[in-house]
Amino acid sequence: MKVFLSADIEGTAGIVHWDEATRTHSDYAEFHALMTGEVVAACEGARAAGADEIVIKDAHSSARNLILDRLPDYARIIRGWSGHPDLMMYGLDPDFAAAIYTGYHAKAGSDANPLAHTLTGRINRLLLNGEMASELTLNALCAAGYGVPSAFLSGDAGICADAEAMLPGIVTVATLEGAGYGASSHSPERARAMIREGVERALSKDMAGQIPTIADRFEMIIEFNNPSDAYKASWYPGAKAHGPCAVAFETTDFFEIQRALRFICL
Ligand SMILES: [Zn+2]
Repeated sequence: MKVFLSADIEGTAGIVHWDEATRTHSDYAEFHALMTGEVVAACEGARAAGADEIVIKDAHSSARNLILDRLPDYARIIRGWSGHPDLMMYGLDPDFAAAIYTGYHAKAGSDANPLAHTLTGRINRLLLNGEMASELTLNALCAAGYGVPSAFLSGDAGICADAEAMLPGIVTVATLEGAGYGASSHSPERARAMIREGVERALSKDMAGQIPTIADRFEMIIEFNNPSDAYKASWYPGAKAHGPCAVAFETTDFFEIQRALRFICL
């Protein structure tokens, strides 16, 4: 069994401030180690469920966060950004039995994590067919395009609730609960134990319900914090100004949503 793991940092147990997620800040040393610990715990859970290969996409910021020498010998690691629109899911293909997510965080416009955002801090809210979208929304639809179910997610309680609503049957582990600019969190050791157990359970059960239906038509509205970003985005082919601070983009092909986000937001 091959398993794909997309790893972010803003839903790692204990995290509460951008300094802790920023490679060049002295606070980062502790938190990229904690991020790595959660990834290793997920690998161990997958191994216990029968995975013989785990492909890990380092999916935060520079995509150079995980401490490589701590990863198990059955893992492959994808670092950096190729430029492919699959972004945080780059490297996934139909051969994988499941996609799992660690360190995931609440969406832009949510108060469930002080570090809530979707793709970039420049987006106020991302709407897909009228509903606020998270990175998980985009990534679970990307996985569905390959016929791959989304089996497990760990991160803040907000993204866990969103995951359960979108993907009935997904196993989640809430590492932290945000409150304004703060959060209450499990200890890292407890979070790692829950992740190990949760991934094993997730990959040992039926995952058929965890491939979301891909709509026939998508309307995406990207609301920015700054009108200058909306002006710039309005020049992407097919994008239209949507008020002074947003653009709208319509397509029948979800991959075109991914391509538009790749070029408009990143
Ligand atoms: Zn991130």
